[in-house]
Amino acid sequence: MEVFYSKKKLAGFLDSQKEIEKTIGLVPTMGALHEGHMSLIKEAREHSDIVVATIFVNPKQFDNKEDFDKYPVSIEDDIRMLETNECDAVFIPSEESLYGADDYRAFEMDLGYLDKILEGAKRPGHFNGVVEIVHLLFEIIHPDFVFFGMKDYQQVMVIEKMLNYIHSDILLFRCPIVRESDGLAISSRNRQLNRTERQLALNLHLTLLDIKDEYKKTNVQTLIDKHTERLNKLKNVVVDYIEIADSDTLQHLNEWKSAGKNLVLIAVFVGKVRLIDNLLF
Ligand code: AMP
Repeated sequence: MEVFYSKKKLAGFLDSQKEIEKTIGLVPTMGALHEGHMSLIKEAREHSDIVVATIFVNPKQFDNKEDFDKYPVSIEDDIRMLETNECDAVFIPSEESLYGADDYRAFEMDLGYLDKILEGAKRPGHFNGVVEIVHLLFEIIHPDFVFFGMKDYQQVMVIEKMLNYIHSDILLFRCPIVRESDGLAISSRNRQLNRTERQLALNLHLTLLDIKDEYKKTNVQTLIDKHTERLNKLKNVVVDYIEIADSDTLQHLNEWKSAGKNLVLIAVFVGKVRLIDNLLF
């Protein structure tokens, strides 16, 4: 696997691949890689000739400095893991090389209501930062395909909106959530949980399953209120939101939709760690 720290060298490598008509699949990450990320690499491997991962903890998408400062970093393990999973190249840029470059132009767009609900409302500026870095990576890499995980459901919708806005023909693949054997959605942030918190974190997934089980017998708001109250009673657990939304629009549901269109999204602080998950039913 090729490891690139420089944009120029990466561009040289990609140009040589494009010259011989290889397709490029991009997997953007913030590192601290795990099996969730590897599922994206595997999906990219199936669809692309050349798989490129990026590792960059993007300061612009953190609304909270402490969260950024304590974000886990494990570059050597990450490189090893990517190599084992047959990734062809990884790009590990510095902040300066991206945002400090002479030809850098900030990319901005109006994300509309998507930026004002759920993660957008709770983390001001987060999606602008995401869109900016992903757009910049597109400009550098010019992928044919890009792979995102459905664990960050709203992020996928935001990137799809951006692709639409710039009239891009990059094809986005939505990749399913990978879970630990007990159901906890795998996340780099899980590393920050102590043992007790790790047990408590399981409540996110269990709540999603309960809501799925109880759906139709109870109305939407009653379920949201009941589970929010129940979780908030647990020590060291604070619900940021539980929302039940239309899976196509992320708009709040007042009544249940047909099967496969109901999406429950959850964000919870377990101790100081903020975790998210979602389930479609
Ligand atoms: P991150 O490094 O957290 O920015 O994530 C990079 C990509 O991996 C994003 O598209 C995430 O949605 C995806 N991802 C993270 N965790 C998982 C998971 N458990 N299952 C599937 N995709 C994931």
